[in-house]
Amino acid sequence: IIILAIESSCDETSAAVIADGKVLNNIVATQSVHEKYGGVVPELASRAHQENLIPVVQEAILTSGISKDQLSAVAFTRGPGLMGSLLVGVSFAKAFAFARNIPLIEVNHMNAHILAHFIEDPKPNFPFICLTVSGGHTQLVLVRDHLDMEVVGGTQDDAVGEAFDKTAKLLGLPYPGGPLIDKYAMEGNPHAFKFPITRMPELHYSFSGIKTAVLYFLRDQLKDNPNFIKENLADLCASIQYSLVEMLLIKLKVAVKQFGVNEIAIAGGVSANSGLRETLTQLAAQKGWNLYIPKFEYCTDNAAMIAMAAHYKYLKGDFSSMDVTPLAKMKI
Ligand code: ATP
Ligand code: MG
Ligand code: FE
Repeated sequence: IIILAIESSCDETSAAVIADGKVLNNIVATQSVHEKYGGVVPELASRAHQENLIPVVQEAILTSGISKDQLSAVAFTRGPGLMGSLLVGVSFAKAFAFARNIPLIEVNHMNAHILAHFIEDPKPNFPFICLTVSGGHTQLVLVRDHLDMEVVGGTQDDAVGEAFDKTAKLLGLPYPGGPLIDKYAMEGNPHAFKFPITRMPELHYSFSGIKTAVLYFLRDQLKDNPNFIKENLADLCASIQYSLVEMLLIKLKVAVKQFGVNEIAIAGGVSANSGLRETLTQLAAQKGWNLYIPKFEYCTDNAAMIAMAAHYKYLKGDFSSMDVTPLAKMKI
């Protein structure tokens, strides 16, 4: 079984080839056009996908060492994501499937973020709990099987990646600010400033409060000292990151208790955060959890994870019709 997979849900154009469950490559073109706007501009994203997709696919096929005739299927991200961006991937995949007369496989992007754990060893054992933390989502997912997942908790407002990016913007950092907060936090004191740790009932999260708290805190400090941010950047980043990571882990602990599982994973762009990785590693050691953290290249958007999901769908004969349309919102 050899599958070509395409990812185009947001601002990464990516293609990968998977052969009998083994990912052969993972070509990613990141769009830099959004930097100057401080966030992803949907119209520009879809245009960049149009430009990048064919070269990215060509490179994936070339570097995989297989020929197009060997492909058993073509897979694509159906959603969730930006409608215009998704449309580029869906249209390409449909045309490709039609031209080569091979099946089409739709993949749920959030499902795929979790299945990134099956690209390489060690792989989590079922059932496991995955904390999926990305630019658009924050979810606690009970994973019973590759394609049997249930969202048991999540955010009521902003995603944690959004909280990282928005607070970074308040600090004057360019988009996406999450990785920069991570970088500066390494040199800072996480207890230098106290930002709120919002406590929601059950397995709910809320990340909108911290943005407002940081906004007002900075406004007050800047009145007395216009250089406040510059002089305290590392401490500010470390303190913001501390609050966000604490919030993530408080609910993870509740979920682990509630579902009585010992296998824990994290996925999505924010799982690249070193503060989250370190604190969670310590917590897992203390609690005796088996912890699974993806490689950096499989944390943010990539087609390798789409290919992995497609592989399991192929095995089940779960194909899509040529009428399939993208979905901006799509449940796991
Ligand atoms: P979704 O998967 O929900 O549709 P997305 O695809 O845009 O959203 P990802 O590409 O998975 O999200 O992740 C991007 C997010 O991860 C951004 O918010 C980015 O700031 C954040 N991020 C990436 N690296 C780090 C890091 N080291 N520390 C904190 N945040 C990070
Ligand atoms: Mg991205
Ligand atoms: Fe994503």
